[in-house]
Order: sequence, then structure tokens, then C-alpha cells
Amino acid sequence: MYLSKTHSLALLIAVARASRFLNHPSRVLRRNPPTPSAYPLGDACGHEWQYLNFNPDDDTDEAHLRTLHDIICGDEMRAISSYGQFSAQDVLAPYKRYFPESDEEDDFQTHVKDVLGLIAGMSDTDGAIGSIVGTFVVDNLDFGANDGDGTNCAEEGTLAYTLTDQLDKREKIHFCDPSWTRGSAGDVDCASLDPYPSTKMDSFSRIALHEMMHYSSVGPQTSLKEQIVDVKNEDLQPAYDPPRVHGLLDPAQDDNPAPTEINADSYAWMSLDAWISRKCSKDAEGNDWASFFTQNPPPYEHED
Ligand SMILES: [Zn+2]
Repeated sequence: MYLSKTHSLALLIAVARASRFLNHPSRVLRRNPPTPSAYPLGDACGHEWQYLNFNPDDDTDEAHLRTLHDIICGDEMRAISSYGQFSAQDVLAPYKRYFPESDEEDDFQTHVKDVLGLIAGMSDTDGAIGSIVGTFVVDNLDFGANDGDGTNCAEEGTLAYTLTDQLDKREKIHFCDPSWTRGSAGDVDCASLDPYPSTKMDSFSRIALHEMMHYSSVGPQTSLKEQIVDVKNEDLQPAYDPPRVHGLLDPAQDDNPAPTEINADSYAWMSLDAWISRKCSKDAEGNDWASFFTQNPPPYEHED
């Protein structure tokens, strides 16, 4: 068969186009779910997480983007997770308030140290948070609402969640409105605190650390080798906040030490406890800061 030069060129282009599509069938077949991007308001820092469905021209979205950028790039997340990591490594008071010491059955200290070390980053040389954080995606859409059974912001008391979106198959974090009112850990007024850790010192970074713990690439990929979930106290309410997180371990309350190492809020509050102790301690000698809080949280109130 004869083809004119023009025709054969057109055919070549058509073949080239077809093969390009064949290399990326998902782009043709799917209804193009948006792709996460780097920080939309400026330069991303090393290993900064990715963003989806934020409108940088909207004032609220812009403020949220800055908060998310600042806790990773302004070092708050790195500081908090590092102090949690040190506390586990040296078995300091903040660690012992929420986690058991290692025994012949389980090396709790190493598991907790490894999980928090994954977030903090292993190397001091580049000053960046752990590279795993760069694989996380924050979605500004309440995407859990798309999934019939999924957690979403309409559930009372939900601050944030981490789920695989059934539409784009990505594992993502979404922060609900109430989480944005939590401030920076750096702004916590040390003089206002009780002699025990409490929600008075809560911060947005504590919520963010809690959510990162849930990623399937965190717990299962470390020496822990298990997914980090939300464990329940004896009264079947989730072990959230210092009294309940401590109560899970406390021999006088739940006396249930084993699941502390798979409870997201145990990691988040232990790390915040450690960093606030360091920040507020007047005595920075050695590890003396770790005894800043002189008491454990009071017993949690049982739900009947
Ligand atoms: Zn959780």
C-alpha cells in the first residue's frame, strides 16, 4: 500500500500519541483526580509534605497552608518528635508516663524510639525532617465523607483523620475545622501549666504527629512492625489526651501496657510532654528537664 508523505507522517504522530496513552492508561481511563503538589505559596523545605485541594487565593486556605508549612519547615515537628525519641532512648520521665520499659517479651523503648526517629529524621546534617514526611499528603477536602463508612469531620469531636481515599486510592490526612484553633507549642505559656501534663499545652503539631503515626508506612515499616491505631481504654472510649493515655499504662487504672505502643496519641502526647518539659524547664543540665512535670495526669473519668 502506498502512503503519501503527509499521510505517513500523520500516521506516525497518531501511533506516537496512542503509545503515549498506552504507557499511562490511568490518565486516560480515570476522571483525572487532582495530583498533590509541593507547597503552593513559596519554596517547599526538605521533605515537606504534599498538598491537595487547597486554594492559595482563599484567605482561610492560605492561613492553613502557612500553618502546615510552618510546623514542618519551622522545625516544631522535628523538635517535638526528636524529644520524644530521646525520651524513649534514655527512658526519661515523659516516656515512662505513657509507655512501659522493655521486658523479655517486647522491646517497647526501641519501637517507640524508631517510630519517632522516622519522623524526626535520622541525620542531623541536613536539618530536615524525616524523608518519610515528604511522602505524606494533606488533603483540604473532607474526603472521608465520600466513603459511606469512613471517618469524616461530621463525626462529633473529630479533629483530623488519616485514611485511604476510595476515589484516588491515596492515603491522606485531613484536618477538620476545630484542629486549626490549636496554637503553636512554642506559644504555650509555661506559667499557666499544672504540675502534670494536660491539654492546656495542646498544639496543632500534636494533632499532626498523631495523624502521621497512622500512616501504613510508619508503624509497619519500623521495628514495631504493626499499624498504629487508636486504642480504647477499659471503658471502651478512645485513649485520647494525657489522662487516658497515661491511664492505659497505669497499674492503678487500665494496667494495659502492651497496646500503648500501637496507640497514636501515646506517641503524640509523650513527644509534646517531652518538648514542653524541655522548653519550660529552668534546669537544662543534662536530662534534668525531663522532670519538669512532677506529677502524672489525674485518673481519667470512666464513661458508663
Ligand atoms: Zn487517631
